[in-house]
Amino acid sequence: MTKTHDEPDQLATDDELASTQTPTGVSHKIPAPEATRPLKIQWQYAIVLVLVHLAALLAFDGWFFTWSGLIVGIAGHFVFGMFGITIGYHRLLTHRGFTCPVWLERTLAILGMCNLQDSPARWVAIHRMHHQHSDKQPDPHSPLVSFLWGHVGWVVCRHQELDTTRHYERYVRDLLRDRFYLQLERRQGWFFVFVAHAAVLIGIGAGFGYLVSGGVSGEAWRYAASWAVWAVAVRTVFVLHGTWSVNSLAHLFGYRNYETRDESTNNWLVALISHGEGWHNNHHAEPRSAAHGHRWWEYDMSWWIIRSWEMVGLAKDVVRPKCMQTQDEN
Ligand SMILES: [Zn+2]
Ligand SMILES: [Zn+2]
Repeated sequence: MTKTHDEPDQLATDDELASTQTPTGVSHKIPAPEATRPLKIQWQYAIVLVLVHLAALLAFDGWFFTWSGLIVGIAGHFVFGMFGITIGYHRLLTHRGFTCPVWLERTLAILGMCNLQDSPARWVAIHRMHHQHSDKQPDPHSPLVSFLWGHVGWVVCRHQELDTTRHYERYVRDLLRDRFYLQLERRQGWFFVFVAHAAVLIGIGAGFGYLVSGGVSGEAWRYAASWAVWAVAVRTVFVLHGTWSVNSLAHLFGYRNYETRDESTNNWLVALISHGEGWHNNHHAEPRSAAHGHRWWEYDMSWWIIRSWEMVGLAKDVVRPKCMQTQDEN
């Protein structure tokens, strides 16, 4: 396995902290990764992302609004976004911040695929590459190229390395030893998981609308459309921008607890919308730690979930940051 992170650094003193408050004062730019030249659009990604954003915009039309669609959308932000991406793809599969039974790991991976954020192996490989080269030219999504590049540009532009066998061999050999993840790569299975989950949600929405309207088929259609917009499109777009903001905002704006060798920051807004991922400077300092909030007020719901799993024996080998180890010893 490739070394994916820097060594943990020391907590900055209060004086040092004061000098690194918002913004971090990033003044230098870096070029986009060599492997993205010449710039070419990955049309399959671009088209799907444009379509899901257009579908989400229908939320501004009141005809599509139902309370049930909104509530399922908010619940989905936690079920798919937090359990799937934050806990599953990131803290478990990428960094192995804890271990858990195979059924739980795969459930989290399946929930992750329902967010239109690529297969588990491709996501993990890109993220490990990011940790290895953070804010240097080979970093696939540094916002030091430009904010737009770090946020979404890198997703829709072709990167010649990311789909090569060499890249997968180098970064996710461990994951691809499991046939479950290998199959998902071979048949673009992850995308069908996304489509299937959307179809199931829309179907449930139609059934729910039919029931609450006392059997009016027009209402069944309206509820189906509402759930498609709110529970699938709006929620997917919200989770996408939450994840992308970790790559963009949390490498540009915020404060730093640690002097890492990159521009990562702790950003409360990003932490709020991504269930704790916004404490990104903490994360770059101690990438394997399952807890990203290192100070008592750094909200990290994903860590509370992992901690509760540990208490009931579902999560084991939970990696803690140094500051928590010290607290535990005291
Ligand atoms: Zn980062
Ligand atoms: Zn990470």
